[in-house]
Amino acid sequence: MTKSTYADFYRRSIEEPDAFWAEQAQLIDWQRPFDTVCDNSNPPFSRWFVGGTTNLCHNAVDRHVATRPDDNALICVSSETDEERVYSFRELHAEVQCMAAVLQSLGVQQGDRVLIYMPMIAQAAFAMLACARIGAVHSVVFGGFASGSLASRIDNAQPTVIVSADAGSRSGKVLPYKPLLDEAIRLAAHQPAAVLMVNRGLAEMGMQAGRDHSFEALRAIHIHTVVPCVWLDSTAISYTLYTSGTTGLPKGVQRDTGGYAVALAASMQHIFGVSPANAAGQTYFATSDIGWVVGHSYIVYGPLIAGMATIMYEGLPTRPDAGVWWTLVEKYQVSVMFSAPTAVRVLKKQDPKFLKAHDLSSLRALYLAGEPLDEPTASWISSALGKPIIDNYWQTETGWPILTIANGVEPKPSKFGSPGVPMYGYKVKLLDETTGQELAGANQKGVLVIDGPLPPGCMQTVWRDDARFAAAYWSSIPGQQVYNTFDWGIRDEDGYYYILGRTDDVINVAGHRLGTREIEESISGHSNVAEVAVVGVADSLKGQVAMAFVVAKDAAGLELPANALKLEGDIMKVVDTSLGAVARPSRVFFVNALPKTRSGKMLRRAIQAVCEQRDPGDLTTMEDPAALQQIKDLLKPV
Ligand code: ATP
Ligand code: MG
Repeated sequence: MTKSTYADFYRRSIEEPDAFWAEQAQLIDWQRPFDTVCDNSNPPFSRWFVGGTTNLCHNAVDRHVATRPDDNALICVSSETDEERVYSFRELHAEVQCMAAVLQSLGVQQGDRVLIYMPMIAQAAFAMLACARIGAVHSVVFGGFASGSLASRIDNAQPTVIVSADAGSRSGKVLPYKPLLDEAIRLAAHQPAAVLMVNRGLAEMGMQAGRDHSFEALRAIHIHTVVPCVWLDSTAISYTLYTSGTTGLPKGVQRDTGGYAVALAASMQHIFGVSPANAAGQTYFATSDIGWVVGHSYIVYGPLIAGMATIMYEGLPTRPDAGVWWTLVEKYQVSVMFSAPTAVRVLKKQDPKFLKAHDLSSLRALYLAGEPLDEPTASWISSALGKPIIDNYWQTETGWPILTIANGVEPKPSKFGSPGVPMYGYKVKLLDETTGQELAGANQKGVLVIDGPLPPGCMQTVWRDDARFAAAYWSSIPGQQVYNTFDWGIRDEDGYYYILGRTDDVINVAGHRLGTREIEESISGHSNVAEVAVVGVADSLKGQVAMAFVVAKDAAGLELPANALKLEGDIMKVVDTSLGAVARPSRVFFVNALPKTRSGKMLRRAIQAVCEQRDPGDLTTMEDPAALQQIKDLLKPV
């Protein structure tokens, strides 16, 4: 039998989507088979596997308990508290049923929301899977959010129960959650019926009688309670999750059950190379957080649905030393690893001996996503690891990769700087920004859009806001109903795409439209530039001007104004030669660090706000407040 090429595989997904996805749907268990593969009679609202019933928790846990109860399922490691605990599928099954019984005892019913505000501990995964088990809708809110952001999410999700813990920990510093949670509930209009608190013994919890409940006390009652999976309609809501808020107000992404399960199962096989036949004994390690979409798809659901073990890690990549991740790869025989370019940049600054000290032979590939993967970062990690580095481009909205390389279907080379080609089911196009015309030729820059219906696993709608879903995502191109990613892209002769930044990162200088990312790339070409952010700043004369904030590789001597001026001039020259003088930033400032979210995304909108003396808005997920403060100080008139 000849092995099918990816081109054939992709073509079939587009030309015969029903047959294609009906086949993929066989990767999961269904209680009742579906009648219709895709109902797209009311676009842009599409419904997948209509008539079928299934359950995410059954597919992630129960079906593996039946065949290999003692295999590793969930591996929880905290380099913060020095704890490590491995749960087999059997143990995970018991803990999830216990958590489900606890939630039910607090009044949670099918369709109710459960808000999960937790650090990276096992009980967070138990809570997510328990919700899936009983048909409750989980809404995980990243544990780094402060009271204000948490309160607005409580009001949006209207949870029956909130699950939390006494504290998280970062870099050895205990971060108490309960005071933030109490304040958020005080600020919120919606009041949860109950709060379930996991006690790690790290901080005071100040339990409020009647409202707050101890998880440990309830666990003791329910540890042997049997709670069967509820068979849910494929289209039943599994969860809501907010986008990162890099560009504005976060959107509550709503996801289904059956479509998501199928999409993840298929991606595990075709993208990550884990098939039902080889999953046993393999371990997946995604270094993200359950508060983000990568945590949902590839810490909790994806690997477990595929039947592999998954690592949940609390801590930094550099503590106790920069070898901590590689120790885990060796110890748990990790075969697939998933991280973000920002984490690799952190490791790049460390001594390479930490990588060399470990046996990484189990590792097949490292997947990176979330932000553009620059060539120096990709080359460094690729030669340091000696493994394929696979960039993948997607969004909270899609739940799984839009662009990457499906090595599980047909091994293909990656190209540095490109996440790859459209994944099966995604009808990706580039449109001319002004005319909306499709750009069919190679090397033309356009807005990256996707024709509907989106494949299974993608968002159903914005939670309780169908109008916003239709307006924000599907109506931005006049006269066409296409899904807008709001990212710029370009496609080369071989069909590989390159992401050129976000469409709202465009600035207008004296009538010229410039992408801030293009200016950043040009500035990165200077040998003394480690990292750079460019933002457009309102200017009464030119409309907008570009301002650059640079972290120098070698900052020695830059405190002397003459040296800084010299480097500023050199950087401007680089832009002049590569893009032209119109793109030249009006100023280049040197900083120690750039403001980023905890997930590693550059907070350009915050930098821009500070440059324009505006309120930078919600900064609770900002990694390093000192970075923004330094920019504020630099901009103060002297
Ligand atoms: P918001 O939509 O609230 O502003 P966000 O877009 O940062 O937040 P996410 O859904 O977490 O929230 O991020 C998706 C975006 O991240 C993509 O639209 C793209 O801009 C960027 N991105 C993700 N992966 C890649 C990648 N591999 N290469 C380049 N950019 C990427
Ligand atoms: Mg976005």
